[in-house]
Amino acid sequence: MGRELKRVPMDFRWPIDKLWCGYVNPHKVHECQLCAGTGHSEDYQKLHDSWYSFGKEEWVSNPFRDGCSYNRLAWCHNLDEKDVAALVKSNRLFDFTRVPINKEQKNIVEQKLKDGGNSWLPFNNGYIPTPQEVNEWSLKSMGHDAINAWVCIKARLKREGKKTACENCKGTGEDWQSKKAKDLYKRWKSYDPPIGDGYQIWTTTSEGSPMTPVFPTLEELCLYCEEEGVSVFGHSTATKEKWFSMLSDGFVMHQEGSAIFI
Ligand SMILES: [Zn+2]
Repeated sequence: MGRELKRVPMDFRWPIDKLWCGYVNPHKVHECQLCAGTGHSEDYQKLHDSWYSFGKEEWVSNPFRDGCSYNRLAWCHNLDEKDVAALVKSNRLFDFTRVPINKEQKNIVEQKLKDGGNSWLPFNNGYIPTPQEVNEWSLKSMGHDAINAWVCIKARLKREGKKTACENCKGTGEDWQSKKAKDLYKRWKSYDPPIGDGYQIWTTTSEGSPMTPVFPTLEELCLYCEEEGVSVFGHSTATKEKWFSMLSDGFVMHQEGSAIFI
């Protein structure tokens, strides 16, 4: 969802591109000082930093990808058996564990493809890759994502009997110094702009802000969108006819309160 048509009063004058005040909580969270609001323990943070090896870098060229280099000190390039076991257990290494490796498994995948499924084996093939294989795989591919980092860090903290969450805030990242401030923050509810006869396009990519002035008719709004090249998505725009068709369809099909979804 990126754009929506709103019906607002003709004299509605909220600035274009400014987040609507009703979508932004004016009360601030009191962040936990110990974890800087992350909710993570100090041990978690240390391992997270070592996963990427922030501040300790030794860049070498990637032998599997031309023109690419990698930080060879980073833990993510030096996984051991226990890290690999944690990733396998969390089903994070499909390239090794969900490919058919014998006749029986190949038949299962062939049947799955015939039935319209994907080419992954529906269960682990029994193979456990070596750390070297996984470390090479990550250099050949896009590498480990944030979920893999989380799985390895969490498993290592568990093995070492250490905590994942910050002791002070129990992982919430919050440390309220006033019950009143907490109540105000938690009880705050968002609210829509006023409803009226005018037509205006809003972006909902962030919390929500107007993208156009307010027009008395949908036709005038569509003409403005065409002339000003208002973005439908990213850099793409549309003709006034296309805008009209999208917004009219939305008007009929998807009206919710004062908002009409495109
Ligand atoms: Zn904390």
